[in-house]
Amino acid sequence: MASQEIETLASALARLPGLGPRSARRAVLWLVKRRETSLGPLLEALEAVRDRLVECEVCSNVDTQNPCGICADHRRDQRSLCVVEDVSDLWALDRAKLYTGRYHVLGGKLSAMEGVRPEDLNIGSLLERIAAKEDGIGIEEVVLAMNATLEGQTTAHYLAERLEQFPVRITQLAHGLPVGGELDYLDEGTLAQALRARRPVG
Ligand SMILES: [Zn+2]
Repeated sequence: MASQEIETLASALARLPGLGPRSARRAVLWLVKRRETSLGPLLEALEAVRDRLVECEVCSNVDTQNPCGICADHRRDQRSLCVVEDVSDLWALDRAKLYTGRYHVLGGKLSAMEGVRPEDLNIGSLLERIAAKEDGIGIEEVVLAMNATLEGQTTAHYLAERLEQFPVRITQLAHGLPVGGELDYLDEGTLAQALRARRPVG
């Protein structure tokens, strides 16, 4: 039987997405064997995340500054806003390095099954951003970059309806996206292609 410390660490790791109890134990063992070389950097990284990361009050990205580096970057196109479900989607799109506008993170997707309603998502702040001019420049295009899942597409549909009241062009990622595909899992080339070939909604 493993020590209490190891059990505690393993059960903490087992709660991470994608890690079950078995792989958590394997990770703990790996760390224990390399505690001289690997534990230090891991601890430092965890502490930095705990102490320095904040949620951007504009777009809900997670960064060490607020507003985040993307919102604060005035070289980015302020006329284009890309709406994503989660921060991981923002990161995936930004890794593809094709989109030069800014983002808005919904914090999830509409789901009847999980009881997620429009008011549970960052939709109010999205509408406010579109209604307002940021630095005197109005948003002209909204890219709905939802995942190609049923719930993602339901969310995109709902947003497209809510956005009809604004004089903005509404586009969505091209359906080179595999059905059921989550942006986070796509390679950067596929994502860049879906973005480049984005098309009007409706
Ligand atoms: Zn931001």
